[in-house]
Amino acid sequence: MVAIRKLTGCNMLFAKIWAIHPNGPHPVRVGPPCPYCGKPLFSDGTRQCLQCGWDWHNPKNPVQHVVKPVQNKAVEATAINPAVELESTPPLPHL
Ligand SMILES: [Zn+2]
Repeated sequence: MVAIRKLTGCNMLFAKIWAIHPNGPHPVRVGPPCPYCGKPLFSDGTRQCLQCGWDWHNPKNPVQHVVKPVQNKAVEATAINPAVELESTPPLPHL
């Protein structure tokens, strides 16, 4: 990642993404519907649904994991406490 940063000047986050996915993003895969919620699974061999959290790796004992929805933390913080100050850039100096 250090080499990527030196070559491109990108930040560490993008260097890490580039290192993990050197051939670009994965193509969208659509598998059969989830037996619990009906939403499409990642592939034919998928044994866990990332939408509803059901995991049937052990078919005799399926378990449901907690699925946290992705939320915009800035919006969430503002909604809970309107007094929360969001990060802002400092004003430009007067020339
Ligand atoms: Zn599901």
